[in-house]
Amino acid sequence: MPAMMAYTDRAMTIKSVKPTKVELRDGGVHVEWNDGHVSDYPAKHLRVNCACAECIEEWTRRKLLDPASVAADIRAEDYMMIGKYAVQFLWSDGHFTGIYPFDHLRRLCQCAACKAERERARAAAD
Ligand SMILES: [Zn+2]
Ligand SMILES: [Zn+2]
Repeated sequence: MPAMMAYTDRAMTIKSVKPTKVELRDGGVHVEWNDGHVSDYPAKHLRVNCACAECIEEWTRRKLLDPASVAADIRAEDYMMIGKYAVQFLWSDGHFTGIYPFDHLRRLCQCAACKAERERARAAAD
């Protein structure tokens, strides 16, 4: 009989959150979520964490994008909803292939509550 898998991915599972509002603001992106959460992303943070094939090597998950190569004053110039699962941003450096699935976007939230939540998840995983 195979050993039971003890692995759970609870910390990484955020069930069916989706943005109800996306606004491009000076210096960043403002997102309001259907669970009432509000995220304000510095543009550079989002751009550096792009998970597209140009920025992350698909098989190894190695970062191909050097954060230092992203301008500090990078801006999101436009965005598009991709179906019901992701947001795509057009960045001022011309990069537009980045698609941010809602759960990925939510995990990038920089608010104190989300940071504390991630710290707890990390501590529990040790
Ligand atoms: Zn990318
Ligand atoms: Zn948050």
